[in-house]
Parts: sequence; structure tokens; C-alpha cells
Amino acid sequence: MARRPAVRYKAVMLSRTKLAEQDLIVTMMTEEGEQLRAVAKGARKPGSRLSARSELFVEADVMISKGRNLGILTEAEVSDAHVGARVDIEHVACASAMCEIARLTCYEDLKDPFLFPLLSRSLRACEESTDRPHLDIVAAAYVFKVMSHAGWRPVLDACIACEEPAATRFCVSVGGVLCESCARNVAEAMPVSQNELDWIGALIGLTFDELLVAPVDDLTSSKLLDVAHRWAATHLDARLRAFEFLRGI
Ligand SMILES: [Zn+2]
Repeated sequence: MARRPAVRYKAVMLSRTKLAEQDLIVTMMTEEGEQLRAVAKGARKPGSRLSARSELFVEADVMISKGRNLGILTEAEVSDAHVGARVDIEHVACASAMCEIARLTCYEDLKDPFLFPLLSRSLRACEESTDRPHLDIVAAAYVFKVMSHAGWRPVLDACIACEEPAATRFCVSVGGVLCESCARNVAEAMPVSQNELDWIGALIGLTFDELLVAPVDDLTSSKLLDVAHRWAATHLDARLRAFEFLRGI
């Protein structure tokens, strides 16, 4: 049989689902920001080389050959296993939540060179986080950065409805802040402090280097994670199980 041509990609592994007895379908994001799904044949056999190399959040150089429907993942050489994101359950949960968002914000046949470097840096920031508040703000920052890039940037400086600068409520479905009087009839508008609004702006505007050294307390970081979770779930219209798990632990 003639050998099928294979294409090489640099990619990060976003999710895996079982296929038949011994195979996996691996969903990846390529360096160019496209979503790519391929079958890893035999990856569930004990001792499979492909299994370890297609673990979640591994970055690898992969070879994909054309299959009947999905491509076939024939080789994977790990370039960054993000081992620091595997040290404990909280780091794994943070990286998994970001990969869940990544999977929902990249698309087949649609290149976007912003996406891969952002995810790769976010995974390293997860590795570099040494406490829970910083893990939470890394996940929240990834959400707000990637969602803002995709067009869902929250309005933070004045009430969306009347432009009153003193905005005291945050409403996910309207896309940002409302003043006290415009929020009166909006049941889901939640109280928000100026500090929290400044933080949401910082999650979008600051680099991960800056965020990792910014002092943040437990209460603020968990509120930011809550807002990021609602923001992504509402605008992506998806139940985010990995994000729910991160918030639950
Ligand atoms: Zn208003």
C-alpha cells in the first residue's frame, strides 16, 4: 500500500476522548491557532508511546497522516510537557480549565496566530504559580484575554446603558458594568467593587510576568475566577466542567 503523505505540526493537546477499544481521538491546537483532531491508534494499549505524548497540555511536534475522516496521529515528539502543571491537583485543574476554554475558542480551518502563544504562556504561568490565588488569576486572565481577543471584551469604565461613570454592578449577559439605577431591574447584576473592576482590567492588560508578582488575596482571586467562569460559560454558551472542577476544589 502506498504510504500516505503526512503533515508536521507543532501543537498543544487540549482534550482526549476514547474511540473503539484501544484508540483515542486527540483534539489539539496548532501553532497557527487552528483546531486539529486526529486519531491516536493504539494509544490506550498499556505502554503506548503515543499515550504519554498526547497527554493533556503537552506541546509536541506531531505528524498527522490523512485518514478516511479524521487524520491519524502517527508520531509525536514532546517539546514541552508542562510538567510543572502536573505537580498537584490544583495545578492540573487550572491547566485543564484553560485547555477547555482553548478548545471552545479555536476552530478547524481557521488560523489565528494569537492563540497558541497565549495558551503556551498561560500554561507556563500555571507552572510558575506558587499559591492558589495566583493559580486562580492565571486561569481568569487566560479567559479574559482570549475572550477579549474573540470580541467579548467587558466594558469596565462606565455604565453600559447610560455611561454614568459610577458603576457598581457587573452583569455578564449585558457585557460589563451597570450603574445602580440601570441595574435595578437586572436580576443577575452582581455587586462589584472598584478594586475588582481594576483587577478585571489588569487581567486583560497586564502580562503574566506582572500578574504573577502582583499581590492578591484569596477573596479577590476567587471572585475573579467566579466572574471569569460566568463570562466564558455565558458567552461561549457552554457548560464548563473543568472550570467547575477548578472552582470546586
Ligand atoms: Zn446606568
